[in-house]
Amino acid sequence: MKNFEFQNPTKIVFGADTVGKLATLVPADARVLILFGGASAEKTGTLAEVRTALGERTVREFGGIEPNPSYETLMRAVHVVREEKIDFLLAVGGGSVIDGTKFVAAAALFDGEPWDIARQGGANVQRALPFGSVLTLPATGSEMNNGGVVTHKATQSKLAFRHALLFPAFSILDPRKTFTLPTSQVANGLVDAFVHTTEQYLTYPVNAKVQDRFAEGLLQTLVEIAPQAVATPDDYETRANLMWTATLALNGLIGAGVPQDWATHMIGHELTALYDIDHARTLALVLPALLDVQREQKRGKLLQFGERVWGITDGTDDQRIDAAIARTRAFFEGLGIPTRLSAYQLGDDAVEAVLKQLQAHGMTALGEHRDIDLARSRQILQAAL
Ligand code: NAP
Ligand code: FE
Repeated sequence: MKNFEFQNPTKIVFGADTVGKLATLVPADARVLILFGGASAEKTGTLAEVRTALGERTVREFGGIEPNPSYETLMRAVHVVREEKIDFLLAVGGGSVIDGTKFVAAAALFDGEPWDIARQGGANVQRALPFGSVLTLPATGSEMNNGGVVTHKATQSKLAFRHALLFPAFSILDPRKTFTLPTSQVANGLVDAFVHTTEQYLTYPVNAKVQDRFAEGLLQTLVEIAPQAVATPDDYETRANLMWTATLALNGLIGAGVPQDWATHMIGHELTALYDIDHARTLALVLPALLDVQREQKRGKLLQFGERVWGITDGTDDQRIDAAIARTRAFFEGLGIPTRLSAYQLGDDAVEAVLKQLQAHGMTALGEHRDIDLARSRQILQAAL
């Protein structure tokens, strides 16, 4: 096992009808900015519950944070924070709203041009406003981690940042809040959580036994609950399992002491920035192709993944690896999520466009071995055609 430090300060408040607990979770004298996305938070009644729970506090609201939140929109929120002397942020939404809130938390107190926070991956963050979240979409793990992803629309750059000051102080996870999700977003969430897990598990063995078993447990749970999660929106127990699994997939626990890949995410970010494909859908395009191209480097873990997650024990090593990749692809496709670029009418031109952006963003040595250079990324993208 590799050396590691692990600290996760986010308090999780989990369960039905827990939004009211904001009354005690948010400091009584706070000047609060509620940040949310498009129409869903208002339509579902969640915003009304939040307003009631915040009671007499001074509250301002900032709506309109789009999926894959843009720097341009978030800077308008930064303006409100400064004008209104806001000292606590409350994200109400999915990963986009929570990520956006993290950016606002750091940008509002940043000396200089805040886009530099994204360009430097968060290394230059010095201060951040405290914030909490009410999660409405299980997928990203943003509710219990210190990372975010923002998009500079003008340059089609989608960049990730992280900093120890950017963990939410608390996150409220009420599985009932997911009942209103469209099926496509539930499927996205299952895939995003699945790929967060593989990014930290499907690398090379370092004898991290409990991290492996934990990751396999998360993957098996996602596969087990997927049909019911998609078919029955108001099945509380299924949604509760989905919500907690997605959180655990990216709260630092399974990633402690193990190698990490993240190439699927980095290539996926370029696909979203260029073609506006949902985050999880880009991952489903890249992962099966990447596992195939990187099969030598990942051989040991691919065999373990095949056996322990998919029950594959027959055949030669390469046949078992093929079968494990095929099962993964079929899992995504079974959720209605394509695994081929052709499904989006994207071909060789798109491959070259993505490579250009990877180069522009310095994404030229990706993966757990840093061996995914532009030539290897081209191979992966071509394998996804
Ligand atoms: P999202 O972009 O936050 O939300 C997707 C859509 O779901 C929105 O249109 C939203 O509508 C709707 N929605 C949310 N909650 C709903 C509800 N309860 N009922 C009905 N509709 C609802 O999706 P996401 O997958 O959670 O976040 C994706 C972003 O997170 C990407 O930018 C991705 O790169 C990033 N990400 C972050 C991390 C991390 O560790 N921080 C990890 C992976 C991905 P409204 O706009 O109307 O509310
Ligand atoms: Fe993700």
